[in-house]
Amino acid sequence: MDATLELLTALVARPSNTPDDAGCCDLLMARLQPLGFAAEYFNAGGVTNLWASLRRGDGPLMVLAGHTDVVPTGPLDQWRSPPFEPTVHDGLLYGRGAADMKSGIAAMVTAVERFVNDADWAGTLAFLITSDEEGPATYGTQYAIEQLKARGVVPDYAIVGEASSNLTLGDRIMIGRRGSLNGRLKVLGKQGHVAYPHKVENPILRAAPVLARLAAETWDEGNADFPPTSFQISNINAGTGATNVVPGTLDVVFNFRYCTESTDAQLRQRVQAMLDEAGLRYELNWELSGKPFLTRHGALTDAASDAIHAVTGAAPERFTGGGTSDARFISPWGAQTIELGPINASIHKIDEHVRIADLAPLSRMYEGILDRLLRP
Ligand SMILES: [Zn+2]
Repeated sequence: MDATLELLTALVARPSNTPDDAGCCDLLMARLQPLGFAAEYFNAGGVTNLWASLRRGDGPLMVLAGHTDVVPTGPLDQWRSPPFEPTVHDGLLYGRGAADMKSGIAAMVTAVERFVNDADWAGTLAFLITSDEEGPATYGTQYAIEQLKARGVVPDYAIVGEASSNLTLGDRIMIGRRGSLNGRLKVLGKQGHVAYPHKVENPILRAAPVLARLAAETWDEGNADFPPTSFQISNINAGTGATNVVPGTLDVVFNFRYCTESTDAQLRQRVQAMLDEAGLRYELNWELSGKPFLTRHGALTDAASDAIHAVTGAAPERFTGGGTSDARFISPWGAQTIELGPINASIHKIDEHVRIADLAPLSRMYEGILDRLLRP
């Protein structure tokens, strides 16, 4: 059996529902320790964070990052096979975490096994593995980085093994992500009988024109790397259920996915100015769930493009769309950061799977990047 498939199968068999690592990191260390890697754990809040590093002389610090935790399976009876019993069918390995992202981790480990044994290299190789990427992520990668920063560790390069590929393996690498800013708005009015408009203040009618303005606003034009900043409303609630009562409040939850042309501070100011201008009475709470990041053209993107081309014959598209990942914490740490992993079509879904034929090539892509960056 292919070495990556073998390790992946063992990882998928561990029911690592976020934030439970379920012994995945022990399994990884059983492979890495014989190569000379030393393990350190930065565990907190029920989260397992592994930092496993191997230094060989002076050279760049390359971080291979990932998460062992998985999202909930959903209804078990809808899976074609039990989600934590890795099952092969038609060239696909089925199981929760198969694509997001235990195949990335398994392929990184087998790449390092070949690279460390065969190559003449210099630098430091480190795995940064968390069991809380799919959850709140408070005590995950972000927490581990704080500990590492405190002792002066700064990486040069980082590869996050998230499922980045779109239609075929390696057709896409993530070089950045948009930021995500949430707003929780409560518009205040005055409850009363619908038949007495002068005695009520209807928060729905007061808010409607402002919400229309927010929806129509051009926040920026985007740039060469990012699409324009987008505004969406995800929840809107008001009303008592009765037909003859004007409600006293209206609750709106909205989200910005914003690019590097806007800052979260600018977006906050602009929204508040529009609400104030309309004379609304309101309460507004903001949550910044991730700032945007971008790895500009450099040694890591070049190495990744070349390494992927050597395996597939085609260079990857450099992509900045999609949701957030732990790259949002790793990139500001100072590393050139990319995400490279298998096809993402089935992630978080019932019957999550990965193409078995993609596993060995993915491992060769990671190895190719190490070859290009860690040889003196
Ligand atoms: Zn993931």
